[in-house]
Amino acid sequence: MLWGLRLILTAALLGLLASCATKRPQLVKNTARTFTTVVVDAGHGGQDSGAYRRTGPPEKVVALDVAERVDQKLRESELHTVMTRSSDVFIPLDSRVAIENAQKNSIFVSIHFNDSSRRAIHGFETYYHSPVAYELAQRIQEKLLTLPHSINRGVHAANFRVLRKAAYPAVLVECGFLSNRSEGRSARNAEYRDQLADKIAEAIVEERYGPGVYQGTAQTASEGSAAATQNRTPPPPKGAPLGSLNR
Ligand SMILES: [Zn+2]
Repeated sequence: MLWGLRLILTAALLGLLASCATKRPQLVKNTARTFTTVVVDAGHGGQDSGAYRRTGPPEKVVALDVAERVDQKLRESELHTVMTRSSDVFIPLDSRVAIENAQKNSIFVSIHFNDSSRRAIHGFETYYHSPVAYELAQRIQEKLLTLPHSINRGVHAANFRVLRKAAYPAVLVECGFLSNRSEGRSARNAEYRDQLADKIAEAIVEERYGPGVYQGTAQTASEGSAAATQNRTPPPPKGAPLGSLNR
């Protein structure tokens, strides 16, 4: 009886150890204050269009445009950059992860636009997985909220593969809903996409070097600081519809 109990306990303990070993979180190196390279990831591409509405270009196109602008602005700020794609090609998620983790002393920023069957839903969302990426996610979200008429849908933890498998701080930015009339129209406007890129680049430079270093290049004449303070709405309830999950 006792011997049997001990066997059961031993088996349970071994099982527990095994599950601890498999569930051990990946160690993410905190390079938020030291990074020299930014891996800029344009979501989707090729046969994977991402969010799509007949009224405008698919997510893969506008995401690449914002990503290229972020890339350019970061290089103007003398950061080294690597893009996971710079044309309309399909890159599997694991290949994106390989590119991201091949860059030593880096951070990773993935650019997406959102989609919902509920047309009224709009606003910015930024995602992270490791706690070491939370501050960067928060900073990007805050900068985006300085854009006029912006809505805060919050900074959230998520299990997206490009975040979960990252060896360095990694975030994913949802730059608004293509399914929303107003944000969809904005996303089709190159000047607006440049402003999005400018805010993201500013947040990245500020994360690395502190406030006041970034020299913006966007046309932000219409930018109103009132919009930033008025639009701090709470995050949406859990279970709110999200866009394409290929991220
Ligand atoms: Zn996407």
